[in-house]
Amino acid sequence: MGVLVFIETENGLPKGSSLEAVSFGKKISELEGGEVVGLCLGSLDGSAAETIGKAGATRVLHDGNSEYDKGLIAPTSSAVFAAMESTGSNYVVFAKGSLSDAVAARVSIKANASLASNLISVPTKAGDGFKAQRSIFTGKAIEEAEVKGGKVIFSIKKGAVELSSDGSTASIESTSYALNEADLKVNVLGSHKAEGDVLLPEADIVVSGGRGMKGPENWAMVEDLAKAFGAATGCSKPVSDMGWRPHHEHVGQTGVKVSPNLYVAIGISGAIQHLAGVNSSKVIVVINKDPEAPFFKAADYGIVGDAFEIVPKFTDALKGAN
Ligand SMILES: Cc1cc2nc3c(=O)[nH]c(=O)nc-3n(C[C@H](O)[C@H](O)[C@H](O)COP(=O)(O)OP(=O)(O)OC[C@H]3O[C@@H](n4cnc5c(N)ncnc54)[C@H](O)[C@@H]3O)c2cc1C
Repeated sequence: MGVLVFIETENGLPKGSSLEAVSFGKKISELEGGEVVGLCLGSLDGSAAETIGKAGATRVLHDGNSEYDKGLIAPTSSAVFAAMESTGSNYVVFAKGSLSDAVAARVSIKANASLASNLISVPTKAGDGFKAQRSIFTGKAIEEAEVKGGKVIFSIKKGAVELSSDGSTASIESTSYALNEADLKVNVLGSHKAEGDVLLPEADIVVSGGRGMKGPENWAMVEDLAKAFGAATGCSKPVSDMGWRPHHEHVGQTGVKVSPNLYVAIGISGAIQHLAGVNSSKVIVVINKDPEAPFFKAADYGIVGDAFEIVPKFTDALKGAN
């Protein structure tokens, strides 16, 4: 019994998506009983005990081995599996992400557990297992799935559960998981952070520009609006192909998939390959001078007009409101 939650950190602080995973774990424990235990690997800031506790965990296992700061799949999988065994957890929760997706798959094999991935809401009980809603076809459809009893690995999408804040500070317990040679076969030789204040896959708000921006010299306008929102910036594929923006900003089927609360698309036509990366956004605002632009069909709010007139007014209005 019990629920283990793998908590990814960034600069020692739990990622927002992982805190949602903790709140999701709490909901599972309300259905199944047992304690919610967080697992943090690598550097961890002392303030994490409070934020993780508020989100719903009673204690946090922490292995501070700096190897884990490299975000490597094999050692992380071994540690999560060891923690699952040591806590006797039947359930493990991950927040969807590039590391967690790979680790969740490995842990499910090691533990001979079912893997319920891409969940968009809290499952309900069904017999000795669960019924769950999964996002499929890059967010264009929702699948109702059944998971029979036994051990289950849950991997949740951002927004699958409301972040709770009524828990009390969790206790942090230091631990150390043995890593073997196979865990350390891959090493990281160096890394550098992508530019930008807010990371695109994690962002709550994304402001994206397309070919309608005419050229890289006009991007200050997109960045100003993003700054006023505290948002990350994104772009369409041709924009990054032409070198107007770095490739890590390219959103869509072949780029980054985002699920922010707000996606603002400026001068982007709304080709199906772009929509594949944004259609799980909660609210979509489209600014385009062509009223027939396909993006308007996917928009919650649309502004038909010239971005060069609208965006600065939008930014000024936001600055005035802040
Ligand atoms: C296999 C494959 C994979 C692909 N993957 C991706 C992907 O991951 N992501 C992606 O984005 N694309 C992808 N594409 C490309 C995609 O098909 C489109 O070509 C691309 O998204 C179009 O980019 P855009 O909207 O910026 O440019 P355009 O299609 O040129 O649209 C520009 C838009 O700006 C508007 N506009 C022009 N001037 C203004 C103005 N002054 N004010 C307001 N609006 C203005 C126009 O009305 C138009 O709607 C892929 C294509 C293929 C074949």
